[in-house]
Amino acid sequence: MERTLQGRTALVTGSTSGIGLGIAQAFAAAGAKVMLHGLGAPGQIDQARAELFKLMGEDAPYSPADLSDPREVRRMCAQAQAELGRVDILVNNAGIQFTAPVEEFPEEKWDAIIAINLSSAFHATRALLPGMKEAGWGRVVNIASAHGLVASPNKVAYVAAKHGIVGMTKVVALETARSGVTCNAICPGFVRTPLAEKQVDAIMQAQGLDAEHALTDVLLHSQPSKKWVEIEEVAQMALYICGPNSGSLTGAALSVDGGWTAG
Ligand code: NAD
Repeated sequence: MERTLQGRTALVTGSTSGIGLGIAQAFAAAGAKVMLHGLGAPGQIDQARAELFKLMGEDAPYSPADLSDPREVRRMCAQAQAELGRVDILVNNAGIQFTAPVEEFPEEKWDAIIAINLSSAFHATRALLPGMKEAGWGRVVNIASAHGLVASPNKVAYVAAKHGIVGMTKVVALETARSGVTCNAICPGFVRTPLAEKQVDAIMQAQGLDAEHALTDVLLHSQPSKKWVEIEEVAQMALYICGPNSGSLTGAALSVDGGWTAG
């Protein structure tokens, strides 16, 4: 593995699991000092920290901040600046999902999804951009979704939040265009993670289907490849965005979706 991030520091939100953990590992393997963040059982967090220790040769700082609370987002950012020295790379990745038709969608689920999937990225970017601008180099990577570009039924809050984060990405890119900082969104299709695999189980139960049909006919209905996107494919895209040859790549919504949004 080329150490393209040697000497860089990164905060990856929601990195105790799934895509965030994959990005944290790819960054650490490329030489970055990474701060882990996220919720989860103590065993899961210890395991993530142990895996990063092997790659970084030192303990990864860790924050359990609940990103539904803006004060905790700000505390997490201050901790990252204190423990990493400065934050060169911010990956806004933490997210949750809930599905229901609009008129049955619980108000508290709407509030939680907008707070965690959208507003937390605003609060973290707002807190960390000044340091990046001052350093003359920075990368903000927002993990959006194919649902940041197109809609599906029953996902009103998720689709609204993900479209919002694609819009925010463009604004931050314009405002930072001459500062050495870039801001991009990655828009994955369905990625093989705990969050997505739970949806296969739900479809199997609700529709009495076996795992293969629940996956290819229902969940991956819109994904022409009929294959999961793998975590490593998303992590490598994040690594490219933060690497040495991508200074002009900014304001983009980069699809990694098996052709979903080409149709
Ligand atoms: P995951 O459930 O495996 O991980 C989510 C992470 O977010 C965990 O670390 C969790 O602790 C953290 N988190 C959740 N709520 C939080 C809160 N209130 N405060 C702090 N941390 C919180 O999910 P994943 O599939 O890896 O998803 C990561 C991101 O990728 C999300 O933004 C998701 O919308 C996006 N995404 C996922 C897929 C997919 O198919 N899995 C596709 C497109 C986009």
